[in-house]
Amino acid sequence: MSDRLPGFSTLAVHAGAQPDPTTGARATPIYQTTSFVFNDADHAASLFGLQAFGNIYTRIGNPTNAVLEERVAALEGGTAALAVASGHAAQVVVLQQLMQPGDEFIAARKLYGGSINQFTHAFKSFGWNVVWADPDDISSFERAVTPRTKAIFIESIANPAGSITDIEAISTVARKAGVPLIVDNTLASPYLIRPIDHGADIVVHSLTKFLGGHGNSLGGIIVDAGTFDWSTGGKYPMLSEPRPEYHGIRLQETFGNFAFAIACRVLGLRDLGPALSPFNAFMILTGIETLPLRMQKQCDNAKAVAEFLAGHPAVASVSYAGLASDKYNQLARKYAPKGAGAVFTFSLKGGYDAGVNLVSKLQLFSHLANVGDTRSLVIHPASTTHSQLDDAAKIKSGAGPDVVRLSIGIEDKEDLIADLEQALGA
Ligand SMILES: *Cc1c(COP(=O)(O)O)cnc(C)c1O
Repeated sequence: MSDRLPGFSTLAVHAGAQPDPTTGARATPIYQTTSFVFNDADHAASLFGLQAFGNIYTRIGNPTNAVLEERVAALEGGTAALAVASGHAAQVVVLQQLMQPGDEFIAARKLYGGSINQFTHAFKSFGWNVVWADPDDISSFERAVTPRTKAIFIESIANPAGSITDIEAISTVARKAGVPLIVDNTLASPYLIRPIDHGADIVVHSLTKFLGGHGNSLGGIIVDAGTFDWSTGGKYPMLSEPRPEYHGIRLQETFGNFAFAIACRVLGLRDLGPALSPFNAFMILTGIETLPLRMQKQCDNAKAVAEFLAGHPAVASVSYAGLASDKYNQLARKYAPKGAGAVFTFSLKGGYDAGVNLVSKLQLFSHLANVGDTRSLVIHPASTTHSQLDDAAKIKSGAGPDVVRLSIGIEDKEDLIADLEQALGA
């Protein structure tokens, strides 16, 4: 073996996986079992007391899921990861380790519509308060910091308009405030952006999207950068204080730079329960093997489609950071030089009705609420994913009434453009 560190595409295929030691199986087997036999009573006791690592029960961990966790941790440059049932489950589990009732976290206003709902409504019932900030105005994050702030949450490439967030600038605010920066890296994937390289402390994903990549399996993951010191000021008791669930151990003291991933597993996943099925982990692992190929093709296709739309007379504007004229193009060149992602929006001169009409006329594009599939997808956010918001909030989050969102797949770009041309012209 050479001393060369493996590159991204090599890690996408190999990280975390070994031929199965019992059977020699080369693909990662689906360990479709709920539970694992202990060697003896001492072994069982040491597993339950966190003195030894090993498999107990699939709600807490599973060998198929472990390969997925190791692979995504390697791709993101983190110390450890925890796979869960969905992207939303990842968000709940992360914040449960950080927040006490009455605490606050600051979130960028431009987010996946489901995250806006989760933060605004579901989290309120836990006593977790979201404070919104504007990712285009870094000082709005600074102004939002209070003594009860426990985290800052942003998307690297933000839904729905594909805008690029200045991760380094916001990480400076988080550092000054003494709170971790959480980055939802779903729309970028680590192929385009590795938030940890830019100061993120925790990365979350909906694996459902580009990582799985085929629109067939839900999943989520949490990656621990291993960079945050949880012991200062008693702000994060889940990590710094003795845990009564585990004979009084302190997680940061015991597990060091992967304490956060451990907390998410042994306090979050164990007790809240959103475990990922090993079958879904297998599907997502298979998807990740081709992530670099798919993502590059999807970005290249997206740029061609965005350029076509920008020149079409029925189109009022196109928001794609990969276009030289886009207001996020500078940030795209810095953070995502390989491509500005495959999800973006455009607006139609004919407003809301034209948006609804276009969606109904497209044939190759599937009209549905997802992104990051091999297939090209379309949705009109104002009447679907963002319909819960009032008009002002829709516009602020990039989902105004005339806006259509595309997620570009791996088809031939000429076919995608022809489909849009017939639907716009009709
Ligand atoms: C889909 C999505 C989520 C939620 O993920 P699920 O797997 O659907 O729970 C969170 N963030 C972003 C950016 C998403 O696109």
